[in-house]
Amino acid sequence: MSEIIIPQIKYLPDRPRTTEIIKRGSNLPPFITFTPFKNNEFSFMTHGFSTRLGGVSEGIFESLNFASGRGDDPDNILENFKRIGVSLGDIPAKDMVYAKQTHTVNVLHVTEKHRGMGVTRERDFDNIDALVTDTPGVCLVAGFADCIPLFFADPVKQAIGLAHSGWRGTIGNIAAATIKKMTEDFGCDPKDISAYIGPGICSDHYEVSKDVADEFIEKYSSDNIFSFEVVTPIPGSDEKYLLDLHHACYINILRSGVPSEKIFLTDICTCCNPDLLFSHRFTGGQRGGLCGFMMKKDLVKHDNTGHIE
Ligand SMILES: [Zn+2]
Repeated sequence: MSEIIIPQIKYLPDRPRTTEIIKRGSNLPPFITFTPFKNNEFSFMTHGFSTRLGGVSEGIFESLNFASGRGDDPDNILENFKRIGVSLGDIPAKDMVYAKQTHTVNVLHVTEKHRGMGVTRERDFDNIDALVTDTPGVCLVAGFADCIPLFFADPVKQAIGLAHSGWRGTIGNIAAATIKKMTEDFGCDPKDISAYIGPGICSDHYEVSKDVADEFIEKYSSDNIFSFEVVTPIPGSDEKYLLDLHHACYINILRSGVPSEKIFLTDICTCCNPDLLFSHRFTGGQRGGLCGFMMKKDLVKHDNTGHIE
């Protein structure tokens, strides 16, 4: 196998550098980490975001595809999960739990019993766009290809959350639903939560129709304290607008009580980096899927019988 070459990254202007690509071994899939989570207070957890590099899938899925139901061989997808698990730090596929995303605002509290669901075995849940847990050793997984990944970490309660926020999930406010679930189930205070708004489509590339734009204008136009516009009309067109999902998610998280200094924005767009990332818009839907991963570290390893090794 030839060495994996990481293409030149195109960064979004006016955003602080927060993307770092980690490469462990020449043939293991590289993955993205977010520099705000490198701070010591987050050492209780592991996180990462995949690229399309370092997998076994072919054609439009080349090569690290995690999207099922789009025509890729399930054996390839499982092999890709095994490979990224090794890269992330020996996380077995059987300890991953993959959300079943359908653009809802439903949040699942993941526990021991969910291990492997959506990856090595069938799910017993449906319609779940965000996962939260305080159980160590269970890896939260959600899929993306332009929609916005939201990563939440509370170092005080040592709880984590991972959400999928497309335009429907943003209007419905999956961010608020995830933070609320962390508050209810783990006793988190939103002031202690840090949030990273991850790689997804940028406003230059996200054209939407007037009816979608109107929903965002109604929901976000009262926030005129910001230096950005969530919706921008395209000159010369009455029907087309550009939508800034990253900043709409930012407002959602801020309105939920997370302090602004604990909310971080990605500096890369999926559609701007088609050689590195899968983008639905860039490919016209002929594409594989990326995944976000988040796991609270298991400092005491358990075997399958529940006995401590
Ligand atoms: Zn872009």
